[in-house]
Amino acid sequence: MKYSALCCLTILILLTVSCWGGGEQRINVVLVIIDTVNANHLGCYDYDRDTSPTIDSLAASGVRFQNCQAQAPWTLPGMASIFTGLSERSHGCSHYDGFSHGLDPEMATLTTILKEHGYSTTALVNVGYLGESFGITRGNDLFWFNDDESDNADLTVDTLLKYFSSNRVEAPFFVTIHLFDPHLPYDPPAPFDTLFRRSGASGITEWPAIEMCSDPVLIEHMTAMYDSELRWTDSQLSRLFAGMREMELTDNTLFILVADHGEEFMQHGDWGHAHNLYQQALHVPLILTGPGIEPGTVISQNVGQYDVLPTVLAYLDIPVPDHVEGLNILGEIPADRIIPSSGVIADTTSAACLQESNKVIWFVEPDSSETFNLADDPGELNMLTTDSLLMEEVLEYWAWPCLCTPTQNESALIEMRRLEGLGYIR
Ligand SMILES: [Zn+2]
Repeated sequence: MKYSALCCLTILILLTVSCWGGGEQRINVVLVIIDTVNANHLGCYDYDRDTSPTIDSLAASGVRFQNCQAQAPWTLPGMASIFTGLSERSHGCSHYDGFSHGLDPEMATLTTILKEHGYSTTALVNVGYLGESFGITRGNDLFWFNDDESDNADLTVDTLLKYFSSNRVEAPFFVTIHLFDPHLPYDPPAPFDTLFRRSGASGITEWPAIEMCSDPVLIEHMTAMYDSELRWTDSQLSRLFAGMREMELTDNTLFILVADHGEEFMQHGDWGHAHNLYQQALHVPLILTGPGIEPGTVISQNVGQYDVLPTVLAYLDIPVPDHVEGLNILGEIPADRIIPSSGVIADTTSAACLQESNKVIWFVEPDSSETFNLADDPGELNMLTTDSLLMEEVLEYWAWPCLCTPTQNESALIEMRRLEGLGYIR
């Protein structure tokens, strides 16, 4: 991959990073992962509905990455990329050979590295793929796991605030909080359920059979309900930040907000995610705010989920392991950087590379590709002549060997049922 810079833009966000990590008062870290967030449905990413006042404020207080690409279009590999700094091909956490594969127990994660450097580690998560059997969240001193995959943002926030108020979380701390609510079904509690809803299709919270999904009234309804879930989740983040502020826990804390993948609304003939590598499923929010980060900064270069680990470590002045593929994106970001994504489980396996505004998607079977220019065609509707150089990069990425040994966690049958329940397999 051409990660070497032809043209580099120096971003002077941090002026004195190195003095923060090793000082007397070490900076706390809170990683907020919201499941299933299409960045284009947030106010700070220019959405026309007011879905995210709290997230917008967070972005205004720090740095917002305009073009963050998920390394995969569904939960398991996307989460693994956030915690390992690796692409989907390199961490190998995905679904193949009839199994979903968990993380190699030997692979370092953001949690295990921060724990080694003296951080107390706490995670509150709401999806099975972040449960202990998949290994992505291992290494936590305090672990709260809810696997009924329902709307639990309020309970999750309450629990974390209780942990803080009862001094169960010791500084310096690394806290992961994962909120599942925007994921299907779209059934936010009142009064959020009627916030954006218009007439027609009322009461539907799950997509019907795919053949029936072309009805524009249904698409509008499902989009409105999804947006309501975002606003509900945002309201709970508001409570979290207010509670932490009250306990004087925000001033010395780095906050990172990211999503594991996006969501699509029939733009390419599918709903949900895990079906393809178009931008609706890959474009996710990424926001960082903390001491020394210039408020109101917007970075437009392409970045990825796998940049979270190296960026947090560099910010804390902790060495980044050599095997990490992501980059410290509070430093220099090569303008010609190539961001890979891959892994589709419902329809066909695909891989893609994004370089500047050029994107190539390669479909493994049958062998075919699509090329788009996202600057001219953000909806990926007008296929261009194949970009052969970028296509070579896609094939090179696809050939990368896995850096570790993924584990098989559950029987194929149980796993298939889980995926069916989440709508990944139809
Ligand atoms: Zn997810």
